[in-house]
Amino acid sequence: MQCPCGSGNTYQVCCQSFIEAKAIPTTAEQLMRSRYSAYALNNADYLFQTYAKTSRAENSLVDIQDWAEQTSWLALVIISTGQSDDEFHYVEFTASYLTGNELWQMQENSRFVKEDGKWCYVDGDVKHHKLIKTVSRNETCPCKSGKKFKRCCMQ
Ligand SMILES: [Zn+2]
Ligand SMILES: [Zn+2]
Repeated sequence: MQCPCGSGNTYQVCCQSFIEAKAIPTTAEQLMRSRYSAYALNNADYLFQTYAKTSRAENSLVDIQDWAEQTSWLALVIISTGQSDDEFHYVEFTASYLTGNELWQMQENSRFVKEDGKWCYVDGDVKHHKLIKTVSRNETCPCKSGKKFKRCCMQ
């Protein structure tokens, strides 16, 4: 299958080895992409493990699980990457997802740090988080499958 992160590569050669802990992301962007794929695949453990230690207290495994189960992630677009100093790297992105029949989009500038040699997600500055539209049953599914919403991602 195509990798959910939208890299254009297959999942096998893209985010799978990170999510299955067979390899470690070498850049903050790789970690960000693999966390997005973990959301798309409902892998809350990976999301929890890749939070920076200080952020784990505020993001319980149960909360991550709930959020991942309520959402179907459709698309990730990386806008920019950068670093402010030696410690933190940044990845700005938009991500869209469905929850029920609502199509949402968020834009965030995420902050990453290396802990014990591994990139971790610290927190993010949310630029916007908005409802794009409500999708009706007979509309073409926003996941671009070409099928009607009711025969595709509608839950
Ligand atoms: Zn990927
Ligand atoms: Zn769909």
